[in-house]
Amino acid sequence: MTHFDNSYARLPKRFHTKIAPEMSPAPEMVLWNEGLAEALGVADWDAEICAGNVIPDGADPLAQVYAGHQFGGWSPQLGDGRAVLLGEVVTDQGRFDIHLKGAGRTPYSRNGDGRAWIGPVLREFIVSEFMHAAGIPTTRALAAVRTGGRVQRERAYPGAILTRVAASHIRVGTFQYFTAQGDEEAVRLLTEHVRARHFPQAGSTLELYAEIVKAQARLIAGWMGLGFVHGVMNTDNMAVSGETIDYGPCAFIDGYSPKAVYSSIDRAGRYAYEQQPSMAHWNLAQLGSCFVPQMEAELGGQQQAIEALTEILNSFPDLYQAQWRAVFGAKLGIADPQDADVALIQELLGLMAKDGADFTNTFRGLLDGTARYWVLDRAGFDLWAEHWQARRAPDWQEIIAKASPAVIPRTHRIEEAIQASLAGDDSKAKRLARVLTRPFDLAEEDRDLTHPPREDEVVHQTFCG
Ligand code: AMP
Ligand code: MG
Ligand code: MG
Repeated sequence: MTHFDNSYARLPKRFHTKIAPEMSPAPEMVLWNEGLAEALGVADWDAEICAGNVIPDGADPLAQVYAGHQFGGWSPQLGDGRAVLLGEVVTDQGRFDIHLKGAGRTPYSRNGDGRAWIGPVLREFIVSEFMHAAGIPTTRALAAVRTGGRVQRERAYPGAILTRVAASHIRVGTFQYFTAQGDEEAVRLLTEHVRARHFPQAGSTLELYAEIVKAQARLIAGWMGLGFVHGVMNTDNMAVSGETIDYGPCAFIDGYSPKAVYSSIDRAGRYAYEQQPSMAHWNLAQLGSCFVPQMEAELGGQQQAIEALTEILNSFPDLYQAQWRAVFGAKLGIADPQDADVALIQELLGLMAKDGADFTNTFRGLLDGTARYWVLDRAGFDLWAEHWQARRAPDWQEIIAKASPAVIPRTHRIEEAIQASLAGDDSKAKRLARVLTRPFDLAEEDRDLTHPPREDEVVHQTFCG
């Protein structure tokens, strides 16, 4: 039995617009996440529900309003322009938003059609389920359906909907929306909602902010460890829960470069791989400013409020560094990395960057000696490896095997799967979705998925859906 309890829908009217998904002409299930469906108590759901044609009992569909800084520029009103929150399902594992992305127009669609096409929907399904399997906090994917309709982009594509599951869809931009309106009461309601829902251990607004900052430090370090480039770290695409959200033009690094950027719209490289921690920090500063009015009341003055919030904000770089060190320490099989190990990690990354060594295969290759093959500066590598061997934990192989996946969703393989689906063959997408949910534990017959792209297979740019 599905148990809905729609706490966001109970917030005042100005938080959302109640709206049902548009009808889809001929829904067809493409990918279905059976394990997740069972955990959510929705094992009996079908393509009609996931395409928005049938509203399950207890759902109370709505589009959320939010604002955001997009590439640094302020947009006072965004919102779910092509998505509908069906409602919140409560299980013994917690409370989960069920959200249909690509479900049609809403009052927040601006000039958009409210739709998604099958390519980005398959990509988000595959990548988000991989991230979950790799231990990174993330929204999940329950279903990818074709709607039976067409979506016009640079050409007409099959329309599709992703059923997304999240701890919540509350973004930094949700706070910003109400702050910009001067609606202090709404900010307070939202703060209490987020505290009770995600960080009940926080006893005050300041503690809540500290928890959110901590969660982001952990999240971004996790991304870095996988070579993940989100691509659109706008404040409307940062969930305060600490989950990765809004997989658009994201990509994983093949040949390592700290400056890697893939998104066609990120021309200045604002959201390049190495920029991600600073961009998260910047977004957290925007969030902190939303807490000033209520902190003023709690601390008895604006100056005190700003100082207290700034102190928390300024803790981000150290928190991030500690997480980064733990993540990359584990990738080297070091149990309790020390200051000196940071240099060891940096040295390896430096060797990798010199010739664009494959990120995933180099780190995983530390297990079986093949890392030396991926790093072209063999002499440099051998010298580095001597220092490394002196620092490894006795159980270094077990540590690495759990820290560095054997396989990642490579952009060229996702692209290949999308093209196959466009030609009527979903088997490649199904295979990626299956294999990538066990990324540390690769079967011999799936080895081909570890190959970096050949020169003619490289996808140079990724696009929003
Ligand atoms: P993004 O940066 O992709 O997360 O999207 C930014 C904003 O544009 C969000 O408010 C989306 O809901 C909206 N949006 C993106 N694509 C569409 C579309 N096809 N139709 C309507 N709104 C869209
Ligand atoms: Mg978004
Ligand atoms: Mg998006």
